[in-house]
Amino acid sequence: MTRSLSPRVEAVFWLLLTGTGYHLLASLSLYATRGVDSIAAVWPASGYMLALLLLMPARARLAAFAGMGLASVAANLGATTPLWTSLAFTFANMVEAIVALWLIRRREPSELSFMAPRAVISFCIAAVTASLVSAGLAMLLAGRGGGFFLSWSTTVLLGMLIVTPPIVMLARMTGLKAFGKVPRAMLVEATAILTGAGIVTIFVFSQSHFPATFLPCIAVVAAAYRLGPFGAAAGMLIVTIIVSLLSGQGYGPMAAIDSDPKVKVLFLQFYLLALLLAALPLAALTIGRQRLAKRLEQSNRWLLQAEAAALVGHWRVDLVDWTIYWSDQTYRVHGLEPGTPVDVDYSVQQYLAEDRAEVRKVLEAAVRTGEPFEFQGRILRADGKVRHVKSHGSIERGRGARATGIFGTVQDVTETVENARILEAARSAAERIANTDMLTGLPNRRHTLTFLDQAMAGARAHGAPLAVAIFDIDHFKRINDTHGHATGDRVIQRVAQRAKAALRDEDMLGRIGGEEFVCILQRSSALAAEIVAERVRKAVESGVGEGDGLPQATISIGLAVYDGEPDVEELLHRADQALYVAKREGRNRMRRAA
Ligand code: GH3
Ligand code: MG
Ligand code: MG
Repeated sequence: MTRSLSPRVEAVFWLLLTGTGYHLLASLSLYATRGVDSIAAVWPASGYMLALLLLMPARARLAAFAGMGLASVAANLGATTPLWTSLAFTFANMVEAIVALWLIRRREPSELSFMAPRAVISFCIAAVTASLVSAGLAMLLAGRGGGFFLSWSTTVLLGMLIVTPPIVMLARMTGLKAFGKVPRAMLVEATAILTGAGIVTIFVFSQSHFPATFLPCIAVVAAAYRLGPFGAAAGMLIVTIIVSLLSGQGYGPMAAIDSDPKVKVLFLQFYLLALLLAALPLAALTIGRQRLAKRLEQSNRWLLQAEAAALVGHWRVDLVDWTIYWSDQTYRVHGLEPGTPVDVDYSVQQYLAEDRAEVRKVLEAAVRTGEPFEFQGRILRADGKVRHVKSHGSIERGRGARATGIFGTVQDVTETVENARILEAARSAAERIANTDMLTGLPNRRHTLTFLDQAMAGARAHGAPLAVAIFDIDHFKRINDTHGHATGDRVIQRVAQRAKAALRDEDMLGRIGGEEFVCILQRSSALAAEIVAERVRKAVESGVGEGDGLPQATISIGLAVYDGEPDVEELLHRADQALYVAKREGRNRMRRAA
């Protein structure tokens, strides 16, 4: 406020501000109470001094005390108080201001705010202590008794409690230019409530026919409730000024009390304290509620931001009144504008018919068991897109362990599902390539031997018969030499084709070498295996070279029936030996191992 002033001008500014204000308030109190034996009900000058001390820079305090000292002595002398007493009272008020300031600064080193309950308590403690100290000093120095002590301390206390808060708050709000930020409607409401408080108080305290002293109470409580601490402080100040002035001039129910003037003042003070006691907790409560609402609003905003960032929505089904709540992100997952009305049935209907029953089942089971749940399904969105969504949730229980709600999160996992599908397709394609012989499209050697190993394990476990037939193209070198390697390849392909066509569905044919193949004949007795092998041989003999432009080719087959061999090599070895016999005995024939 005085930042731009030079130190001397600044000192003069504070001296004048303190001095004139203090003198005005002190004179006014003394004048107002002139009709009631010079006993003031409230000493606003103390509150004014403390407010300025709280607002001014520390370097200005000396000037302020000088101003206050002069003003106080002058006001007292003006009210025909003897010099010594005026000096004593002034000294007591100065010490009181120092004590109050010191106590407040000790507990609240930063700026005192009347917006925090803790700060209000600190302020009250400081005001009570300082008024007791000043009452004690004034009593001792002026040689007065206990009645004076009580009257002085209450008067000063009320002065501080009622006058300091509105001045400090008003100055801070002006300094922060906070008034511009107050909504217009609230300004109108504040003006209406405070004006109403003033009118009601004037009405009640200007006459004594209707002792409606409770009416200003309602006005102050309304100000505290609607406007918070500032409303409480401003309301109190308005009521105090009017009540003091009117009662001091002999108007109203207080003046009409048929008793000693001291009792009248005490009653008035009691009335004002009662008003403060009603308004303060309410103001603190209002502030607490406002803070809570602000925090709630902020955490709600953070939640929505987190949801939007993580693409996770949340929802809640109320099992009591059968309604559903969707968060904004849940709406987005469903491709709907946030706030569109939805109900429980609609939410379930969003799932594709194939997934709906499963969703219902999971939810019903969760309600029954109370266990957390998880489900995934496809929804048909309003924009016609099918999306995969995943929900996690838990059951809320009310009294008596009854399920009262289902709370869940929902996430669009379409990309994850798609990626998993692509990955699986790539994996199975890679597996197919790794297991397939490129020339014939048949299972390759590795895959064939793995299959045979599993077939042997199955036969061993279940005692089912199993046979293997190895076959090899006869005089293949000659075909290669005569017709070229490319034709040789085509012969291999054709042989594979013919052999495959002659096998049963359950039989497996694999290429295990250049022009060597293996047939795995499961659940085949020796006789059945021989029949199948012979059919393969005939199919090649009759099917290769007939009108397909390829040279004629035949195969020799060695057959072995599984006989408890410990491994694949041993069984294949026996088949190989039979093949060797077939070759030796003239080729284009099948031989079975003994
Ligand atoms: P046998 O009747 O005793 O079987 O006589 P063969 O000439 O067929 O002798 P063998 O089975 O030992 O010959 C295999 C030949 O097959 C050797 C190799 O040149 C040829 N071969 C191996 N793999 C391929 C292939 O993928 N394509 C072609 N065109 N020829 C191959
Ligand atoms: Mg060979
Ligand atoms: Mg051969």
